[in-house]
Amino acid sequence: MMLELKDLHVYYGAIHALQGISLKVEEGEIVTLIGANGAGKSTTLNTISGLNRVQNGSIIFNGKDITRMSPPDIVKLGICQVPEGRRIFPNMTVLENLELGAYLRSDKEGIKKDLEDVYRRFPRLLERKGQLAGTLSGGEQQMLAIGRALMSRPRLLLMDEPSMGLAPIIVKDIFNIIKEINQSGTTILLVEQNARMALSIAHRGYVLETGRITLEGPAKELADNPQVQKAYLGG
Ligand code: ATP
Repeated sequence: MMLELKDLHVYYGAIHALQGISLKVEEGEIVTLIGANGAGKSTTLNTISGLNRVQNGSIIFNGKDITRMSPPDIVKLGICQVPEGRRIFPNMTVLENLELGAYLRSDKEGIKKDLEDVYRRFPRLLERKGQLAGTLSGGEQQMLAIGRALMSRPRLLLMDEPSMGLAPIIVKDIFNIIKEINQSGTTILLVEQNARMALSIAHRGYVLETGRITLEGPAKELADNPQVQKAYLGG
């Protein structure tokens, strides 16, 4: 097992945001976490990344307990998050944003190779490498956010709402890219409001409702589940 969350509880003050989340991600999988606004999807990813204090429960990554590790140490182990809203640095160039993704690494040759890989995957970013990131389109900014994460050479990529605010045709491109990244060996935990797209590329999925997992299974089974169809796939 690559990642295992065991009975995770997280609070924001009096708000009990995660009420005993247990889930698993196996090496090579795309696993999706779907659920309504406020269900706790972002909180789950942020908690894995070390950004929230865990009240109870544990997070195990490749056999190691990372529950109380610092965010940089978690990145060094090979977990990287593509945050909701992309969070690129608008006043820095595309190249500078990508270089930031590698800031915890010192293997110059490896960084150079990974930059070439990112440019091969996203030719638009190569064309625009000297341009300020804030001038990119929404889709290009999402590509930059993904490229920046790839610069940390992650084994597990946590993706928070990659489709947010993008036109349907661009969403399709982004999901194809996610599939390709997975096929070239990166495991992915994907949070999405666009349940239809997420279930179409995922191997397995979990449904989150107000801080609890209510359903889980192969993505195909979830997509065929009448409850899921009614609540998340528009009937
Ligand atoms: P969304 O798609 O809207 O981001 P989500 O499923 O990712 O939804 P979370 O953002 O994880 O949900 O929020 C879970 C719960 O925790 C919600 O009730 C939310 O209001 C609350 N919450 C999230 N972040 C904070 C915070 N920093 N302080 C207080 N409450 C928060």
